[in-house]
Amino acid sequence: MKGRSLTAMMIAAAFAAVVGSCGKDVEMDFGMFIEKHVETVAPLEREGSLAYWNAALSGSEEDFRKYSDIRLELERIYSDRAGFETVCDARDSGKLKDPSLVRMADVLYLRYLGNQADPRLLDRIVGLSAKVENRFNVFRAEVGGKRLTTNDVYGVLRESDDGEYRRAVWEASKAVGGEVAGDLLDLVRLRNQIAREAGFDNYHSMSLTLGEQDEETLAALFDELDELTAEPFRALKEEIDKNLAKRFGITADELRPWHYSDPFFQEAPSGEMAGLDGFFRGRDIVALAADFYESIGMPVGDVIAASDLYERDGKNPHAFCTDIDREGDIRVLCNVKDNVYWMETMLHELGHAAYDKYIQREIPWLLRSYPHLATTEAVAMYFGRLAQDPRWIAAALGLDEDETDALAPAVRSSLRAKQLIFTRWTQVMFRFERELYRDPDGDLNTIWWDLVERYQFVRRPDGRDEPDWASKIHIVSNPVYYHNYMLGEMIASQLHHHILAEVVGDADCRGIYGDLAVGEYFRDKVFRPGNTVPWTKHIEMVTGEPLQAKYFVEQFAGPGVGRDEWREKGQDAGLGPDRDEGPGKRRDAGGAD
Ligand SMILES: [Zn+2]
Repeated sequence: MKGRSLTAMMIAAAFAAVVGSCGKDVEMDFGMFIEKHVETVAPLEREGSLAYWNAALSGSEEDFRKYSDIRLELERIYSDRAGFETVCDARDSGKLKDPSLVRMADVLYLRYLGNQADPRLLDRIVGLSAKVENRFNVFRAEVGGKRLTTNDVYGVLRESDDGEYRRAVWEASKAVGGEVAGDLLDLVRLRNQIAREAGFDNYHSMSLTLGEQDEETLAALFDELDELTAEPFRALKEEIDKNLAKRFGITADELRPWHYSDPFFQEAPSGEMAGLDGFFRGRDIVALAADFYESIGMPVGDVIAASDLYERDGKNPHAFCTDIDREGDIRVLCNVKDNVYWMETMLHELGHAAYDKYIQREIPWLLRSYPHLATTEAVAMYFGRLAQDPRWIAAALGLDEDETDALAPAVRSSLRAKQLIFTRWTQVMFRFERELYRDPDGDLNTIWWDLVERYQFVRRPDGRDEPDWASKIHIVSNPVYYHNYMLGEMIASQLHHHILAEVVGDADCRGIYGDLAVGEYFRDKVFRPGNTVPWTKHIEMVTGEPLQAKYFVEQFAGPGVGRDEWREKGQDAGLGPDRDEGPGKRRDAGGAD
């Protein structure tokens, strides 16, 4: 622990003993507990991050085993009953006055709380979860005796014009739901048991609380988002349906889930990014990203030097950023190619890296991190979106703005479709998981399709009564997490609005390339405080208001945000689901997401 040395605290304690103030005793004892705790945990976290990094580069079983052993050891530390009681006593004493001690007590309390269940119960959950995830890994949809991979399924739904074949493939891809539903429900009941032992109604409520998220506030936010996106989405969906009906030679009423371009209708029909690849062909993506961060006064050259950025055999094919030690050893893994996808990803991952890098080093180790995963995601999304901002592209590549502006309407409408479709899909996930944990014995098959019809406007297959909800792997592997993707998008849009209005001034919509005020804003306002305040308060601190749905809607779906509104709305873009999968970063299973 920095900033408050042990000796200083011992002197304070001696003094407190003389004058008889037990408040200082509590602070000193808790300070010493934290110091010892960090002495144990910090090296383990560092070892774990290094093992994960090495495993991602080598693909070696041994590295993965080392990583998961360290994770288990950390979980064991936070299951310790005595440690938990020490934290509770200090937290409930009312005698912690130092704000950073108060915050650390909260952070530790929540960290321990989720691990207080019977260890045998936790073991069963880990075991069952691994079993179900493995079923997903080995599952192949079978159609006419042919086994299809996930990529094959996506390929058919993107390309095939044969309605009957699409239906067969879609149904086959859902068969995994039937295979895992029983185990998944057992898992849900076990998770609920843990939550009840910790004093919560169910695992959904507990997860939100552990993430410092209030169920009512969150539900209100999703309601607002629903209200504001319903009509724009309806209009978009009608357009999509009209095209699909024509393509398949049926009426719009006859469209069913297998007519859409992915198994859950979570993505826009065409996955490509509005013809932007050409701009990046033959360009040095890494240098473009580095130059940009340098241009706003937020250099990340040290991160790039420590990173592993290009494809290699046996290496993890995705992307993530990891803060190895909270002391400045920050690394990015990428597999960069010269296209817009990797431009976006590079900007995204370096956004995470810049966050980690510019948190004030004097903050105690326990708080030297972002306040919530959704917060660092939002920052990464904010920067990643720039890759589809014609103005940013022009500045980064030294082109005339007329050249890139010509593409603006196409980019704008593809982003709009992407974000509208994604936001309606997250409504289904958020609401379904809430119902699932409230009543695992409910009629979930019906609830699922009721939600799909209500929020995605996709008609359920006639007479179907199958656990289609269980075919979404996130419900197993990242329970009660999906809504954070949407929160990240909303926070990113609120940051975007605030920066245009208060940091650069909205008047000429000149993009943010080379704007030192933007770098200063992120460094000093957004990153610097680390986790010294909860994420909700952090948003208020950095944007002047609580998180709201309206900025996301304004940026992507508001009235008048049409094809020709680019100049009025300035730089923005968004890529929906993320591809990170590192320790402490959100995980997303490529095409399966
Ligand atoms: Zn990310």
